[in-house]
Amino acid sequence: MSEKFFMAIDAGHGRYSGGNRCMAALDPNQTAEWVLGDRVARAIAERARLYEGFRTIRVDDASGEEDVRLGVRCDRANEAGVDFYLSCHFDAGICGGYGGGVTAFCVALGGEAERYRDELYSAVTAAGGLQGNRANPLQTANFYVLRNTDAPAVLMEFGFMDSPSDVPVILQERYTTAVGHAVADCLAEMKGLKRIGSFVDVLPDTYCYQAVEWAVKEGITVGTGDDRFSPEDPCTRAQAVTMLWRHWGRPKVQAEHPFVDVEAGSFYEEAARWAYAEGITVGTGDGCFSPEDACTRAQVVTMLYRAAGSPAVTEEQGFADVPEDSYCAKAVAWAKAKGITAGVGDNCFAPEDACIRGELVTFLYRA
Ligand SMILES: [Zn+2]
Repeated sequence: MSEKFFMAIDAGHGRYSGGNRCMAALDPNQTAEWVLGDRVARAIAERARLYEGFRTIRVDDASGEEDVRLGVRCDRANEAGVDFYLSCHFDAGICGGYGGGVTAFCVALGGEAERYRDELYSAVTAAGGLQGNRANPLQTANFYVLRNTDAPAVLMEFGFMDSPSDVPVILQERYTTAVGHAVADCLAEMKGLKRIGSFVDVLPDTYCYQAVEWAVKEGITVGTGDDRFSPEDPCTRAQAVTMLWRHWGRPKVQAEHPFVDVEAGSFYEEAARWAYAEGITVGTGDGCFSPEDACTRAQVVTMLYRAAGSPAVTEEQGFADVPEDSYCAKAVAWAKAKGITAGVGDNCFAPEDACIRGELVTFLYRA
């Protein structure tokens, strides 16, 4: 049986009211506490989507416009029946002697909330960026949301907005994303939740999910950063030939290639050399490979077909938009017969459309 976990999150205060601002001397924009807390809250919610049964709810106003009263936040969490409540804050008051770093609070010791507090604190400080608060990192406090939620609750201060060492760190999205991910990963591990995907934009209900997970595991491609694969982004010819080359085991060939626009030492140079030597591509004419051009669906299928050794094809491809005398007709017929593509609907193949990343990986997976 798969586990489930339901968590309430607030980003502390609102965009305009309450909370602190980064000290002007350290941050001329005087970034509001809500802005940073919201980044953490979003990163938690997004990361949670990679786990089966991990649901989140924002009990504040995620636009930041309204400073939702604490009583309302607690009511929302209680009515939703969450398993856990986390309030995301950034602190100030270093001049009062608290020092910089991360601080975590629960209402009392000895309960489940304390365990959450300690586990999250460990995960967040291990995520890189900031250490724990020097003076008193793990505290109890009688804060409203800690006291008035039915579920165990924790309030975290993810850094100090008036600390010369903290501010440059907490202003970086890399930091707020990292701690948000650390929170979600930590909770998922505590609850034994199963990770279901590598990318928030390619979840199991996406057509290319299996192909993408396979391609990443095989080292054929990586994501585009921030837990994303960007399946809708068009592939360049450089990217396409590289994925093809990796899929074929990264063969090294000694032959020269004639392409004037393939930069020595570029990530796709070996792939372009191989593709030329194997007759998989002859380039785009005039001694060019056009690495930065979008790779069309016709080009991708043609490269795949040639990489497979240009096998004889008896079936006709029959797509309305692929004339039989087209350079890609045989390749398309082969791909269709092998179940690599069924076209784009309406009996069309859309040969001149840019091949998007999700499609390319799907073609490779099926080839
Ligand atoms: Zn606060």
